[in-house]
Amino acid sequence: MDYPQKFDVIVIGGGHAGTEACLAAARMGCRTLLLTHSMDTLGQMSCNPAIGGIGKSHLVREVDALGGAMARATDRAGIQFRVLNASKGPAVRATRAQADRVLYRNAIREILESQAGLSIFQQPVDDLLLENGRVAGAVTQMGLTFRAPVVVLTTGTFLGGKIHIGLENSAGGRAGDAPSIALARRLREMPFRVERLKTGTPPRIDASSVDFTQLEEQWGDPGAPVMSFLGSAEEHPEQRCCWITHTNERTHDIIRGGLDRSPMYSGVIEGIGPRYCPSIEDKIHRFADKSSHQIFIEPEGLTTAELYPNGISTSLPFDVQYALVRSIRGFENAHITRPGYAIEYDFFDPRDLDYSLQTRAVPGLYFAGQINGTTGYEEAAAQGLLAGLNAALAVQGKEAWCPRRDEAYIGVLVDDLITMGTLEPYRMFTSRAEYRLLLREDNADLRLTEKGRELGLVDDLRWSCFARKRDAIAAESKRLATTWIHPGTAEANTIASRLKAPLTREYSLADLLKRPELRYLDIAGLKGEPLAEAQAAEQVEIQAKYAGYIDRQQQDIDRLRRYEDTVLADSLDYHAVDGLSTEVRQKLAEARPATLARAGRIPGVTPAAVSLLLIYLKKRG
Ligand code: FAD
Repeated sequence: MDYPQKFDVIVIGGGHAGTEACLAAARMGCRTLLLTHSMDTLGQMSCNPAIGGIGKSHLVREVDALGGAMARATDRAGIQFRVLNASKGPAVRATRAQADRVLYRNAIREILESQAGLSIFQQPVDDLLLENGRVAGAVTQMGLTFRAPVVVLTTGTFLGGKIHIGLENSAGGRAGDAPSIALARRLREMPFRVERLKTGTPPRIDASSVDFTQLEEQWGDPGAPVMSFLGSAEEHPEQRCCWITHTNERTHDIIRGGLDRSPMYSGVIEGIGPRYCPSIEDKIHRFADKSSHQIFIEPEGLTTAELYPNGISTSLPFDVQYALVRSIRGFENAHITRPGYAIEYDFFDPRDLDYSLQTRAVPGLYFAGQINGTTGYEEAAAQGLLAGLNAALAVQGKEAWCPRRDEAYIGVLVDDLITMGTLEPYRMFTSRAEYRLLLREDNADLRLTEKGRELGLVDDLRWSCFARKRDAIAAESKRLATTWIHPGTAEANTIASRLKAPLTREYSLADLLKRPELRYLDIAGLKGEPLAEAQAAEQVEIQAKYAGYIDRQQQDIDRLRRYEDTVLADSLDYHAVDGLSTEVRQKLAEARPATLARAGRIPGVTPAAVSLLLIYLKKRG
């Protein structure tokens, strides 16, 4: 049967990509439908109960700056907040929150249910409706057809999902959830390049069986950092402690002894796993000289005794898991509540997408999240928001949007994926961004909220908070640049005592703030009132202290902008470009980069090839 109501946008899958996608489309004013396996697993964290961390919090803040849900839900669900790299420069500082799984799911569901223009329907999707070569809707397991001109697919690890524990395996989307088999089969009939990847999760431990006296405590940071630009520490639930322990030689011997029954080492698993989130058996194999690995023991929530031992993800047989866990300090009598496992799943080569995350082969169909070869909730959320936005823009007949690499980590993520593809689960790092001094987590709103408002993603409340902050930063920066401290005055003496040297000439407050010994609060109140709002004050300080570096990075960007703005038509015949090697021609013809800059980032496309392209374009006029 055809469902009586028609929608503008259909999103399939209620994980981290799907929830941001449907919220973005609905915020844009589209009648949006979310089709998902279960209402009870909306926003479910499949693996570790944590949001953020290095590179990832940058994405979360960008999603937040564009009106997304992840950071707001984290502030309501976070049971421990820390700022990683706090002693390093602001570019690599990253907020990380331990989350209560149930509170996180509840927060996401509440945000979804209160979003105007969004309907949710619980049913597995088995097929996509195609008409005249483009997508026209989705067909559910019970044969119900939902129609919409655009569809965003965000089915995570579920397509052809296969769960491995030792040499045993079974079909599953993740533990406790059925896989998507029919849909995976249908997608394999379509003209997409499909490969397999794998990821894994550790066994969970019952806290009542752990000897905490043997473990090192780790508390959150004082001052309770927040994830969302609109967040406040008052929203945070009760805060909890985490613990640290380590593997030892005996643990490693037990693991080595079980490798012959490991699905990874016996060749049962074909998919490639995440390099930066390896299983414990992988770590012991790859770093054979290390006699110990750290394990962070994280509570799964406030109302459960289960613990997540971060660092011992494994797909070894259960008897090996049991022995290895009990060999670890503090876990001598540990009871495992759920075994660890690995999951293999289908993903699609992201080089088959354009920068809006629309598939090239099926107009109107967008892919976002784990199915594009990424790993992580944050990477999924970022793609989801972008795909939902672009699906809505397409319905509205407007041009697609994706931030550039110098504007956002979202831009880096999408550009890396669609230009280079990926052979292993892709996760974000600050090192992937060449302009990371500009792309800080603290300024994501200043980089993106105005654009988000223009696009229709940002509501009035966020906009008014943002505008107030932006104006306060501008006014305060101006005040600091035009307020002078003269030698011999009481203010100069205060500064001199901090610098342990007298002021020999007059300085503006902005000049003084550049000195490493001085912080904003040391100088702002010398004349006039310092800003009361901590976020705005932090921004004024960072902008002043790093002005020189930021300006230099901006000059680099401006120089390279020419390449970013040079469009390569989809129809360009690379065989007509003189001097290109056959290999480069093939690579360009296959990737069809949208700009000259993107062409230059394709592995194997040399700077000389880029110059030849530029000459060709100039000659053609
Ligand atoms: P998911 O969160 O998987 O959501 C997919 C959604 O789609 C689900 O709601 C599902 O029910 C729904 N769905 C699927 N098929 C259909 C269908 N046919 N019809 C309707 N609904 C459908 N990430 C890390 O960063 N580090 C890790 O160590 C890590 N380990 C992991 C271990 C395991 C075992 C698993 C399963 C995942 C792990 N992840 C890890 C990955 C992390 O869970 C994902 O990156 C993230 O959840 C991806 O979000 P997503 O929205 O793309 O997909």
